[in-house]
Amino acid sequence: MQKNQVAAGCDYVNFRIVVLMKPTPDPDKVRFDAEKGTIIREGVELIINPYDLPAIELAVQVKEKLGGEVIVISMAPPQGEEALRDAIARGADRAILLTDRRFAGADTLATSYALASAIRKLGNVNLVIGGEKSIDGDTAQVPGEVAEMLGLPHVSYVSRLIDIDYSRAIVESDLESEVVTYEAPLPCVLQVTLNVAKPRIPTIKGKLQARKAIVEKWSADALADIADINRFGIKGSPTMVYRVVIPKEKERKRIILDTEQGVKAVVDLLMKEGLL
Ligand SMILES: Cc1cc2nc3c(=O)[nH]c(=O)nc-3n(C[C@H](O)[C@H](O)[C@H](O)COP(=O)(O)OP(=O)(O)OC[C@H]3O[C@@H](n4cnc5c(N)ncnc54)[C@H](O)[C@@H]3O)c2cc1C
Repeated sequence: MQKNQVAAGCDYVNFRIVVLMKPTPDPDKVRFDAEKGTIIREGVELIINPYDLPAIELAVQVKEKLGGEVIVISMAPPQGEEALRDAIARGADRAILLTDRRFAGADTLATSYALASAIRKLGNVNLVIGGEKSIDGDTAQVPGEVAEMLGLPHVSYVSRLIDIDYSRAIVESDLESEVVTYEAPLPCVLQVTLNVAKPRIPTIKGKLQARKAIVEKWSADALADIADINRFGIKGSPTMVYRVVIPKEKERKRIILDTEQGVKAVVDLLMKEGLL
């Protein structure tokens, strides 16, 4: 996609927003294989990565202002479909699941390549929104890599969308030590924090629509005309994992510096243990 291919001549109807949404294991149900040191993914329910909920909400708010459509793209095993349905219930218009054994074993580079290829295949995308990080992989690398692969500007830690029109977005980026305001020309990639928007609760109507909606499934072959399929999945992943360890939980210690609070904490603890 050329940098300015999309923004020119865009109007209310054509504005296209892509949300990158990772279906992640439900943290309440996740299990680890202690011997292999890996997450057991088989048969595990996948939900919308919680950090992607504000991304979906922001995209829907932008659509409500500028028109167009919200397309959510995920790369995941087939059970990622339910998370995409949830995204439709929350206001997305279209959902695409990149699912194929040839995408499996991808590191962030191969993941980003597959997602960037899907965006390129869609064409005419005006805005891409991703979450700050995933709750499982947690590298926070994917949206930046997607932007680089598409040759688009990328702003991370976006905590507020100040203004947006068909040619540019003005955003605040919260870097903890300071908040910086950026103006980014569209198309661009915004990587948003949890504060950017409060996710809406899906309505009954939305849930019914989502149940009937078609989640498009794209295989590696579907992208073969615009991508090098050798760059997908394990083949396209230069990362080598030597060892994975699950850290042992350290014994919890509480440090209380205030005397009054300290005495109260000790008394509370003794009472809880039945010693007072
Ligand atoms: C050698 C190796 C093998 C691996 N094999 C597998 C495997 O077989 N199966 C597996 O599930 N994982 C595998 N992983 C993990 C995989 O690399 C990450 O799940 C993936 O690259 C995303 O990185 P992340 O979770 O750190 O996302 P982050 O970069 O932390 O996510 C930031 C944002 O990017 C977007 N995003 C990230 N991932 C996706 C996605 N898949 N779809 C849509 N949007 C996304 C979301 O907006 C998200 O909020 C492997 C990793 C390595 C290093």
